[in-house]
Amino acid sequence: MTEPCLQVDDLHVKYDVGSTGFGRRRWLHAVNGVSLRIEPGETLGLVGESGSGKSTIGLAVLRLIEPFSGRVRLGGADVTGIPRSGVRSLRRRMQMVFQDPYSSLNPSMTIEQLLQEPLQIHTDLSRGDRQAKVAQILEAVGLHAGYAVRYPHEFSGGQRQRVAIARAMIIRPELVVLDEPVSALDVSTQSQILNLLKAIQDQSGSAFLLVAHDLAVVRLMSPRVAVMYLGEIVEEGPSGRVYDNPGHPYSAALISAIPFPDPVRQRASGRLILRGELPSLLDPPSGCRFRTRCPFAMDICAAEAPPRVPIEGGGVAACHLHAHGPRLAGGSVRSLLTARVLS
Ligand code: SF4
Repeated sequence: MTEPCLQVDDLHVKYDVGSTGFGRRRWLHAVNGVSLRIEPGETLGLVGESGSGKSTIGLAVLRLIEPFSGRVRLGGADVTGIPRSGVRSLRRRMQMVFQDPYSSLNPSMTIEQLLQEPLQIHTDLSRGDRQAKVAQILEAVGLHAGYAVRYPHEFSGGQRQRVAIARAMIIRPELVVLDEPVSALDVSTQSQILNLLKAIQDQSGSAFLLVAHDLAVVRLMSPRVAVMYLGEIVEEGPSGRVYDNPGHPYSAALISAIPFPDPVRQRASGRLILRGELPSLLDPPSGCRFRTRCPFAMDICAAEAPPRVPIEGGGVAACHLHAHGPRLAGGSVRSLLTARVLS
């Protein structure tokens, strides 16, 4: 069995936010016991509402924020175990593309300088070789090599994101965390950038952790998806199975919000509007964290955290509906939801 590109085990990220007044510390538990695995060259989509903790996982994997506990391994190397002074050497192997191409590029540097910088830090290439690499990567992301003398403000949002992708990919990292890479772009530019990412991945063999709230984007890009709710992964599996037959009510609700081009299919599919707000990470619900918004919550959901149950077609879902079978007899989570919405 080959070593995974990325392995995350029982990751916790929490912040001390002061005391309760009775001398006890209060913690904001942003990521609660997350485990995931990405194979070399694979894309895993991480989806969830804003505030679910998905971007925090990306930052913790790169040690841009410090995990509280748990382990992150990159190609077998222990990312969490090395001292902060050693983290820089890992950056050659892991890069990140941020959501906002307007703020992720230093406006006082030319594109040439921006793209040469990672090569200067992480390689001993000569100036001539670095220039050749810059020309090469600009062509690869669909920008003319002559643009190297320009500054970021001279580009559109889509072009800036191409530059940001070029900067991340120029040192051929093993893993790239893509944090909402197209959400700041207009729809036609989004599909160009997604196609570019796929083409670049085919050439480089890099693995992607794609963090996004847009399920349509994740389905297009990721053969496998993990769904996050309030700091936890509630479902994980092959994208086709999760989208067609979600095993968790939260996944089913998110998926029911994806519009179908066919209005008849749209009506038949039903849509569940989640009630209530995302609870506070300072005081998450006991048992299943989704129970305050779940239409199927049972007594056990408040008392016990649900186990991760294998789902037919691949992957797992953390929901008591599966362990307490009668609720699901003759149907799936999605059919339960559809019946609820249409009744
Ligand atoms: Fe809903 Fe209970 Fe399943 Fe949580 S465990 S998603 S509350 S049915």
